[in-house]
Amino acid sequence: MRTFNFSAGPAVLPTDVLEEAREELLDYQGSGMSIMEQSHREGAYEAVHQEALENIKELLGVPENYGIMFLQGGATGQFAMVPMNLMHRGIVADYTNSGAWATKAIQEARTQGRVHIAASTEEEMPARVPNPQELHLSKGASYLHLTSNETVSGAQWQAFPDSDEPLVADMSSDILSRPIDVSKFGLIYAGAQKNLGPAGVTLVIIRRDLASGVPNTVPKFFRYAEHLKANSLLNTPPTFSIYLVCLVTRWLKKQGGLEAMRQRNRMKTDKLYATIDGSNLYRGMADPAFRSMMNVTFSLEEESLESRFLEEAAKNSMTGLKGHRSFGGIRASIYNALPEAGIDALVAFMREFERAHR
Ligand code: PMP
Repeated sequence: MRTFNFSAGPAVLPTDVLEEAREELLDYQGSGMSIMEQSHREGAYEAVHQEALENIKELLGVPENYGIMFLQGGATGQFAMVPMNLMHRGIVADYTNSGAWATKAIQEARTQGRVHIAASTEEEMPARVPNPQELHLSKGASYLHLTSNETVSGAQWQAFPDSDEPLVADMSSDILSRPIDVSKFGLIYAGAQKNLGPAGVTLVIIRRDLASGVPNTVPKFFRYAEHLKANSLLNTPPTFSIYLVCLVTRWLKKQGGLEAMRQRNRMKTDKLYATIDGSNLYRGMADPAFRSMMNVTFSLEEESLESRFLEEAAKNSMTGLKGHRSFGGIRASIYNALPEAGIDALVAFMREFERAHR
């Protein structure tokens, strides 16, 4: 029996995908070897690599003038690579500070040049992200950075700003959870370990013209242009992770694509937020207008009750519910692969816990 895994990441993967991977683990399509034992420059792996890229292109509707890359180093690596590649385009980079992850992106950008904070909601409780109308953009900025979903606080951008400067988004925790208009963005990046697959691979989507003209002080390995040119095979890629991304994206297509995922995710979150709002025990930690469809955060009146909640949830096969150490409370991460049965189990448990402890 699989537990209901509410972990923020690495996170739950579709059971169908894990079963398929298990099926093919020792003998990938009659080759007598696992896919992870094969050369990254030969037919079997090449087909997987190409299909994974194409599935992402199709699911997100990535326009032709964009390149898609599988890199390493996580979203954290992108906190550095983005300014290394894009800051030369202007005199300052605009960043929005929406909380824990945006702060990390800002700290890293400051090692590369001037950063202007276009809006900050970092300190606000209940947690939220800035409104597009609140942004103070710089003249001559190289780009505007935002974190589309703050995984720690559970606040998410509901609509993205229109800006003349290229919009750069860290979508680590909500990529592929809803349709987006890729043409609004100059660059999108995401670590894989929430909605895309296992840890070890990072997705980057870039408007091709933005990859050029990078100063030659930036090492080759850290230039997008080089990875684009090499079709993400500049060095040995994390082949098994990309294989799983291929299976997950195939699964997403079978589910009906991103509009179907959005509807399913909406239904899942609505049930959970309705339980929080209808209770006297649980208090949502994110501003209702910015509530995340991926990470649902709430607190209980006393910390001791929160430990009880976590202990009893674990006894009921529900794990990964402890809030981030910097934020506290409870966090239910309900990515694409978390089945609706998991939400129903959590809702039933929350109601029962409230009856018993109020
Ligand atoms: N950005 C966001 C929004 C995240 O949720 C995370 C990971 N939880 C990161 C960045 C960092 O990702 P990684 O560990 O892949 O570097």
